Amino acid sequence: AENLKKRKIAVLGARSVGKSSLIVQFIENQFVESYYPTIENTFAKSVKYRGAEYDCEVIDTAGQDEFSILNSKHAIGIHGYVLVYSVTSRASLDMIQVVYDKIIDFCGVTDIPCVIVGSKVDLEHSRQVSPAEGEKLAQEMKAGWVETSAKTNLNVAKVFELCLAEIEKRAPRNQTG
Ligand code: GDP
Repeated sequence: AENLKKRKIAVLGARSVGKSSLIVQFIENQFVESYYPTIENTFAKSVKYRGAEYDCEVIDTAGQDEFSILNSKHAIGIHGYVLVYSVTSRASLDMIQVVYDKIIDFCGVTDIPCVIVGSKVDLEHSRQVSPAEGEKLAQEMKAGWVETSAKTNLNVAKVFELCLAEIEKRAPRNQTG
C-alpha cells in the first residue's frame, strides 16, 4: 500500500541475551530453544501503531559479533535500534554502553532512536540487574526501556512499539519509503 511506512530496526547486544528469541516471539509468536544458529537474518512484519501501518524489517545479528551489523550491507538505512541485555547478566548490561557508543560513533550523531531491553525476566531468581539500573542507563541515552521475556511473551510487542515511538519522535514529518 502507498501509505505503508518502512522501518528498519536492528537488534543488537551481547551473545545469548535472547535477541533471536525476542525476534522470533515477535514475528512468529513462539519460543523455540536455540533457534537460528549462525546466520544474520532479517524478518518482516507489518505493525499497526497509532493508526498507521508500519512495514517493519527486523535485523538479527544471530551468532555474530555484536558489531558486525554496523559493517554489513544491512547497516544502510537503519531507522531504529533495539539494544538487548539480559537481566541475568551484568556483563551484558555493560555491553549495551559499548554497543551504543559504537553506533553513535559509526553514525556520526549524538542521539539515535533506541530502545534498551532487559530480557529474560522470567528468570527472576537469577537476576543480576535491577529494573532501576536498566532504566537509568536508558534515561542517560534518552532511549526507551522495557523488561521482557521471550519465553512468556511479556512485553515483546512493546519493544517494537517503543522503537517505532522513538523513531517517530525524531522524525516529526511523516516519512514514507
Ligand atoms: P542471542 O544469541 O542473543 O540471539 O540469544 P538466543 O535468542 O539464541 O537465546 C540464548 C539462550 O537464552 C537460548 O537458550 C534461549 O532459549 C534462552 N532465552 C532467550 N530468551 C529467553 C527468555 O526470555 N527466558 C528464558 N528463560 N530463556 C531465554
